[in-house]
This record gives sequence, structure tokens and C-alpha cells, in this order.
Amino acid sequence: MEIKLYKFLNNANNKTPKNVLVVGVIHGDEPVGEFLIEEFLKNQTRTIKNNLFYIPRLNFSNKRKNSSGVDINRNFPSKNWELTKKEDNYFGGFEPNSEIETNFLVNLTNEIKFDAIITIHTPYKIINYDGINNPITLPLAKKISEFLNYPIEADIGYATPGSMGTYFGVERNIPIITIECDEEIKKEELYKNFEKLFNYLEKEF
Ligand SMILES: [Zn+2]
Repeated sequence: MEIKLYKFLNNANNKTPKNVLVVGVIHGDEPVGEFLIEEFLKNQTRTIKNNLFYIPRLNFSNKRKNSSGVDINRNFPSKNWELTKKEDNYFGGFEPNSEIETNFLVNLTNEIKFDAIITIHTPYKIINYDGINNPITLPLAKKISEFLNYPIEADIGYATPGSMGTYFGVERNIPIITIECDEEIKKEELYKNFEKLFNYLEKEF
């Protein structure tokens, strides 16, 4: 399976568009992000003020870890990356950035200077953020919290070495918002709020 990247560039004559990346299914057993993004991308005629980059599905396995048994969200080359046992649920690979999925995002973010990265997970019903030294981060987290009706939690309570939040947010100072969706409600219901969020990112953010 190949990772798909959909780009929609500013078509509203905006001189200072922001670059925004939205990533679904970092954990293969949290598939709703793919549905939410693909549903929105069915709407082809949109006026877009920013530059949006969508990856509906990063991880094509149907388990938390990828097909090589690595938790992608622990495989990013952050300073605190650590080697754990392969059986560990959060195993981050034998070395940082060893996985195709990780490498895809690291290369993309080296090529394009993103103003924000949004990732879609389940099931905790919270908004988490990293990159607090960037002034965009907290207002964006608040906005997303309003659209989705989930509270903001700045710290999920445990260290996440090699995570996207640590690598992009803490170390590279790129605002990164992790959305933990409710998996108990119908995905069509969830989509209603995500449609508002995606429109905001394209037109107002
Ligand atoms: Zn997850």
C-alpha cells in the first residue's frame, strides 16, 4: 500500500497562505481519520485560502503498530528516542526514523515549512498539543477544541519519546495538535464537526 498525499493549494489569491498538514491513521487500529479526511475530500470545489496537505492513512496495518511491528508514533528521531523491547506495545523500532511512514513525514516536513500539523487518533476524547513556544499552537488547540467539543489537555501524563508531538512540536517548534476522537459515536456524526474544522483550516486559520 502506498501512502497518499493530497495537496490543495491556495486558490483565493491569498499572499500569505499557511501550510497545514493533516494526518490520519498513525495507529492502524484507529481508522476513523481516513474516513473523516476522505469524506471531506469528496467535496472537490472549494475556495482555499491556505495550502492544505492531507494524508488520510499513514499506517496500512490494522493494528496499533505498522506491518514491521513498530509504533510509528515512537519512531521519530527526537533526542529522547529510546530502544525498548520489540514486544512492547510502544516499540519505536530498532533505530529512530527506520520506518517508511516515519521517513515519509520527516522528508515532507523538511521539504515544506508547515505552520501546523494536525493528527487524528482515537479514543480519548481530548485535544493534546505540543510546540507551546510557537504562538500559533495554543489558539489553534482552543479553536479545535471548540469545533470538536473535546477538552484540551497539554500533557497526556506520560513521556512519549520518539512521538510526533515531541519531535515536531517540542524539538522543531512546529505547532502540532493531536486529536483523540470519540470512537463510540457514529463516524458520520463525528464528521459533522470535522467538516467545520477542515473548512476552518482551509479558509480562516
Ligand atoms: Zn493513536
